[in-house]
Amino acid sequence: MRDTLRALAKLSTIDASAREIDLQLQQIPAQIGESQANLKKLDALLARERSDLASAETLKKSHQEEITKQNTSIGQAKSKAAKARNSREADAVERELDHARRTIKERETELATLATAIESQKKTLAEHEGEFEKLRAIFAADETKANAELAELHGKRNIIVVGRDEIAAKIDKVTLRRYEQVREKRGVAVVELETNGMCTGCRLAVPPQLVIEIGRGEMPEVPQCPHCRRFFYVRSLIEDQPSL
Ligand SMILES: [Zn+2]
Repeated sequence: MRDTLRALAKLSTIDASAREIDLQLQQIPAQIGESQANLKKLDALLARERSDLASAETLKKSHQEEITKQNTSIGQAKSKAAKARNSREADAVERELDHARRTIKERETELATLATAIESQKKTLAEHEGEFEKLRAIFAADETKANAELAELHGKRNIIVVGRDEIAAKIDKVTLRRYEQVREKRGVAVVELETNGMCTGCRLAVPPQLVIEIGRGEMPEVPQCPHCRRFFYVRSLIEDQPSL
C-alpha cells in the first residue's frame, strides 16, 4: 500500500504540473479562435458595405442613363413639335416635353442625394478597411506569438511527463483507473489528509475512526476520501520510512 501511495503521490505531482500547461494549451487556441471569428465578422461587415456601395453606384448609373434617354426624347419631341399639324398634336408634344423635363429634374435631384451618400459610404468604407487591416496585422502578430508559446508549452510538457509511464506501471490497474477517474472529475486526485481529519481536497471532515485507521497504515488499499473520492496522501505513512 505504501509503495502504491508513493507512486500515486509522484504521479499526482507530475499530473498537477502538466495540468497547468494543459489548461494553457487549451486557452491559447481558444483565444486564437475567438480573434479569428471576430475578424471574420468584420470581414463580413466590410463585404456588406462594399455591396451597398456597389448598389448605390448601379442606381447612380441607371439615373444617368434615364437622364440621357429623356434628353433624347426632348430632342425627338422638339422635332415633332416643328411638324405638328394642329393644336392637338402640339399639345401632345408639349406633354411629352413636360414629362421628360420633369423626369430629368427628379433624377437630377436623386443623383445629387445619391452622390453625397456615395461619398460618405466610400469614406466610411475606407476607414473600416484601414481599421480591418490594422486588426489583421495585430492578429497575425498575436498568432505567431501564440504558436511560439504553444511550441514552448509542448516542449515543457514533454519534459514534465518524462518517467510518468514507469511510475504508473508501479500502480495496480484498479487503483490507476480510479486515480484517472478522480483526476478527470476533480483535477487533482491525491490530496493531503490533515492531522485534524480534514480532506484538503473537499474541505470536509473524515470520520475519526477512518482517520485512525489511515494513520496506522494498515489499510490494504490506498485510502480515499469518503466524500470526494480523492486519494489521501498521508505524510506519516510515506515520509518516516527509512527506505525513502
Ligand atoms: Zn475529500
